[in-house]
Amino acid sequence: MTKKLRPETLAATALGWVDEETDAMAAPLRPSTSFLRDPQDLSRAGRMFTRDDNPTFQQPEALINELEQGAGCLLFASGMAAITAVFQRLRPGDHVVLPELVYSGLREWMNSQGLQWGLQVSYVDMSDENLVARAIRPSQTRLVWLETPSNPTWQITDIAAVTKIAHDAGALVAIDNTVSTPILTQPIEFGADIVLHSCSKYMNGHGDLIAGAVVVAPGREQVLDELQNMRNQYGGVLGSFESWLLLRGMRTLSVRVKTASANALAIAEFLQASDMVTEVFYPGLETHRNHDIAQRQMRDGYAAMLSFRVNGGEDATKFLAASVGVIRQAISFGSTETVIEHRAGMEKAGSPTPRDLLRLSVGIEHIDDLLADLQQAIDATRSNWAVDEAHG
Ligand code: PLP
Repeated sequence: MTKKLRPETLAATALGWVDEETDAMAAPLRPSTSFLRDPQDLSRAGRMFTRDDNPTFQQPEALINELEQGAGCLLFASGMAAITAVFQRLRPGDHVVLPELVYSGLREWMNSQGLQWGLQVSYVDMSDENLVARAIRPSQTRLVWLETPSNPTWQITDIAAVTKIAHDAGALVAIDNTVSTPILTQPIEFGADIVLHSCSKYMNGHGDLIAGAVVVAPGREQVLDELQNMRNQYGGVLGSFESWLLLRGMRTLSVRVKTASANALAIAEFLQASDMVTEVFYPGLETHRNHDIAQRQMRDGYAAMLSFRVNGGEDATKFLAASVGVIRQAISFGSTETVIEHRAGMEKAGSPTPRDLLRLSVGIEHIDDLLADLQQAIDATRSNWAVDEAHG
């Protein structure tokens, strides 16, 4: 029955689950690490130890799975634990294709642990399918990794087109859907095999937990079994309190994502009109290179992440980031409040991110307060730099 419900309803009702024992409508927290065995020393409730499974995982895993239209979901201790599990099920010598602009934590893991483990990697501009096709190595490429919109310039990848290329070559497609969330994009609908989330961001949405999730598409249940074993063996399991908190946060997922996305569009348009801004990266703008694909692939908004380049170079850029008031300067994204970040400064040396780029994670504040804050920060930057220029 829940299959027919829309994502907004699935999230708000947390699948309508009721505790059989107490009729409680909110899920209970069950922190037990161990579960009773019967007189024959067999598991009484199908559970033994929380590193395998815990009843508190059940509802958030079921909800994320329904939202993504998957065949199964597993929670992990962080987004990175979920991501690295997907790569660690590959074998030394396997080839993977990654976006050239990918979440920096994944790039750093791949260039250290991933290569040491024996993976071969090609970084590709995923907005050009011909480049993806050329990067694929027949019978060696096992996985094509997507992130759309991709951090930090919010490029859009045509999921269906890239998936077809990957499947024709026998490779699976995994997609990090952290930024879009299933409210805006459901990648399995476009053919993806594996969907990843850093639930530390929008899924929880309140900036107070670290968690990750993997969803597999129908037909990919074997991948789920492998990942479940790996979760147990590597031990990257989520705490029961965090699982409980995550379910609580997800109930408001759709209102948070839609409001933040509408704010982001208004801010992108505002920044585009400013003389202190040289370029705005946001897929909701008609000037965005892949706006048409975003329109096809996303609904109810273009996500709440955007970046812009500041007129005046790195120093002016850092000054602007330090001049905001309502908005605060911090890492991460996907919480209720807006944060700004000098992204290149946070990434390791050699990062391709421009030094004059600021990233905004837009929240759900009143849009007028956000625009006024940005306006005063822009004005302060302009006058500070005009003063400097006047002084030579
Ligand atoms: N995926 C994306 C797009 C991210 O931005 C991040 C973290 O910033 C991660 C995955 C990693 O998630 P976590 O911080 O929960 O380990």
